[in-house]
Amino acid sequence: MTEPRKIIILSRNRRLYSTGRLVEAAESRGHDVRVIDPLRCYMNISSHRPEIHYKGELLEPADAVIPRIGASITFYGTAVVRQFEMMGTFCVNESVAISRARDKLRSLQLLSRKGIGLPVTGFGYSPDDNTDLINMVGGAPLVIKLLEGTQGKGVVLAETNKAAESVIDAFRGLHAYFLTQEYIQEAGGADIRCFVVGDKIVGSMMRQAKEGEFRSNVHRGGSVRPVRITPEERSTAVRAARIMGLNVAGVDIMRSNHGPVVLEVNSSPGLEGIERATGKDIAGSIIQFIEKKAEPGKTGTRGKG
Ligand code: ADP
Repeated sequence: MTEPRKIIILSRNRRLYSTGRLVEAAESRGHDVRVIDPLRCYMNISSHRPEIHYKGELLEPADAVIPRIGASITFYGTAVVRQFEMMGTFCVNESVAISRARDKLRSLQLLSRKGIGLPVTGFGYSPDDNTDLINMVGGAPLVIKLLEGTQGKGVVLAETNKAAESVIDAFRGLHAYFLTQEYIQEAGGADIRCFVVGDKIVGSMMRQAKEGEFRSNVHRGGSVRPVRITPEERSTAVRAARIMGLNVAGVDIMRSNHGPVVLEVNSSPGLEGIERATGKDIAGSIIQFIEKKAEPGKTGTRGKG
């Protein structure tokens, strides 16, 4: 047993599986844990004594914060995490890393700079470049992705170049930014979620798209099972999390015929699917990480850019 810590979980709802499991794991190890809604935090941004108030009370200093910031509240949520950083509180994922991971394009650019395997990806502005953007990723079939989508929304498989052009025209008509991407057909609708804590993979699962669908998101009927990953996949996932500067991350990888490629790095990965698929105490691993690493003023900015 390590000494008890004061841990704050920033989450909108304590009844969510992930939040509940983190509370349980922290309490079972003797820590003092509290769930706080980031949208009810307000702050005093003074240089001498930065403060966070919560529902009328001044928050006492904590030893560690676990941010569980949903995509829809990234701006406010990261401001709250940053304020905890200003107060010297150890944040499991720091605010800059969360913002970085929420920007798909920026993430891919940072990962590419460090030589992480990625699907060939195009990004452009002018309609005059549509054909080149399609050809650059190998032509049809190709994937077109809205930059703002989550849970597979706005991820389209275009089976012909004509279909790709129509989708691109439609996205442009909505003034939406999008990526063109090589379709990893050989993965057969499967991808692998690697759950990283610190510099270790604490669990991995394969997600398989349902019949007739290429997206493996569980929200789209995908199924999950535990999977043994290769040393190359392991090091790709750990490196991707490190490049993003995330201590806790869900790294999504596909098995392509040019090796493992990273699709996405998630800064608030859900615990339910991975704990059910692997039978492992992933929440406990996160709490153990805090026991080892939480020190005041050491939020550990590791990623860059
Ligand atoms: P989101 O963040 O909305 O989940 P993703 O980029 O992860 O978007 O894509 C959703 C799903 O679509 C992935 O989990 C994967 O199953 C499938 N997918 C995404 N990109 C490709 C690709 N380039 N080739 C094949 N399948 C893909």
